Amino acid sequence: MTTSDSHLLGPVEIRELAAELDVTPTKKLGQNFVHDPNTVRRIVAAADLSPDDVVIEVGPGLGSLTLGLVDTVERVIAVEIDPRLAGRLAQTVNERAADYAERLDVINIDALKVTAEDLPAAPTALVANLPYNVSVPVLLHLLEEFPTIRRVLVMVQAEVADRLAAAPGSKIYGVPSVKASFYGEVTRAGAIGKNVFWPAPKIESGLVRIDVQDMGWSRDLRPKVFPLIDAAFAQRRKTLRACLTGIYGSGASAEEALRKADIDPGIRGEKLDVADYVRLAQVSHVGF
Ligand code: SAM
Repeated sequence: MTTSDSHLLGPVEIRELAAELDVTPTKKLGQNFVHDPNTVRRIVAAADLSPDDVVIEVGPGLGSLTLGLVDTVERVIAVEIDPRLAGRLAQTVNERAADYAERLDVINIDALKVTAEDLPAAPTALVANLPYNVSVPVLLHLLEEFPTIRRVLVMVQAEVADRLAAAPGSKIYGVPSVKASFYGEVTRAGAIGKNVFWPAPKIESGLVRIDVQDMGWSRDLRPKVFPLIDAAFAQRRKTLRACLTGIYGSGASAEEALRKADIDPGIRGEKLDVADYVRLAQVSHVGF
């Protein structure tokens, strides 16, 4: 790792790059660029990466975080939907961190659609300042598509960070919390203020870390587990028996499956942890 931050992008460089590319950041693509080297260093440190990691970075934008990653890991695969930004990134890394330029691959594609065939190598970590409007779908898509990912460190809206890391029973515990915890341990990894971005967003941001691990179940269960989670939270105030009636065909069948999995049919879905949903899927023989 380099000790100097001089290659990272500050406010002046960010404005210059945006002007050169004639980029006016759009809300639609969640374009808020980090113009603060300290924040970049904080994100990279929180990711706790190894030199041999292969990082997939979603939405590299003008390259703020990319420059903090290329001097830290073996390879960075940057997936950017905006062709102007994707087209300039290699040059930016070449100009500012030439020694590491070979470590970078840029792919101009929608991260919601990226598959293993699109990448030159299997990623071991996901580190990103995610576009806010698609942060959870992108996160879940990548966790599913790339089982080689062991570590996730993403910046998202603060309230999304809270929801992702929420524990069963809390008000904000919901579909994203249960689904993310299907893959590993999810924790909050710090808060980020608005002023580290250009343009500054209206809301605070937060870091989320996921340590992907063997949870004691097969990922092949996902197509059975995730519809149960969706149904259980679709009507938050109803009991599990009522919420799952559609999936099981009748209230009685839903109750039977819940009892078989040792779950009280009279409680709400927000009381269950991911292991409960997995157990329910394992005892269920209905088609989903
Ligand atoms: N990483 C940069 C930084 O920290 O300054 C930019 C982060 S900005 C919050 C989000 C980036 O994601 C933008 O560059 C935007 O163009 C890109 N983006 C938006 N939707 C995307 C998608 N579906 N797939 C890939 N990139 C996307």
